[in-house]
Amino acid sequence: MDPLVLSKREKHKLATQFADLCLTCGTCAGGCPVTGVDDMDVRKAVRMVVLGLEQELVDSRFPWVCTLCGRCEYACPMGVDILAMLRSARGKRARDKVPGVLHKGVAMCLKTGNNVGIPKDDFLFLLEDLAAELSEELPGFTVPVDKKGAKILITVNSKEPFGEPDDMKYWWKILYAANESWTTTSENWEGVNWGLFTGDDESMKEIVGRIVENYKKLECEYLLLPE
Ligand code: SF4
Ligand code: SF4
Repeated sequence: MDPLVLSKREKHKLATQFADLCLTCGTCAGGCPVTGVDDMDVRKAVRMVVLGLEQELVDSRFPWVCTLCGRCEYACPMGVDILAMLRSARGKRARDKVPGVLHKGVAMCLKTGNNVGIPKDDFLFLLEDLAAELSEELPGFTVPVDKKGAKILITVNSKEPFGEPDDMKYWWKILYAANESWTTTSENWEGVNWGLFTGDDESMKEIVGRIVENYKKLECEYLLLPE
């Protein structure tokens, strides 16, 4: 194993006590792509925890401006576990106070199997329609749905069937050219897990579990997520 990777992991094991580890050096904020956006300063976010202002951090914009890219944590000389800190702050926000449509998307996904609530019949109709269009260019093309034994299970970013359906054709053209064995599913096909982004572990697990269930049921070998 790469010794650098190991040493980073070892550092992370020590990084549970922010108060004891943070040097206030500012390296995290220096490399953060959103420093200054809505007054974002990740060093301040760490200091808030250090000073016992957890609730103030939960109520602040900091956890939501963060993209969870991980640059701060990678650069931190003390290995402070900044990502877990910011994500857990998201998770502690009351669900009706989660910004934007994120929590509504999670609730919709739990209810319907995708973030925007596309009914199963509409989804299948759309796939069939797009496949028919594409077959004029790619002879014999169809979209395999719920195909047992396919090599790759492909989940779908709901924004594509919802707003940019033709984008799916680009994936399909590559799969066709590669003569790949693949399938998608008629239910629980959403590949964008907003439970991850909102710090909602229970919903995240449920949504992942549904994909795993599809994957096992169809006996696929690989899983492809669009995000
Ligand atoms: S890089 Fe690490 S040690 Fe430096 S201010 Fe940020 S959290 Fe603290
Ligand atoms: S994980 Fe968040 S706080 Fe850290 S560098 Fe990325 S955007 Fe900035």
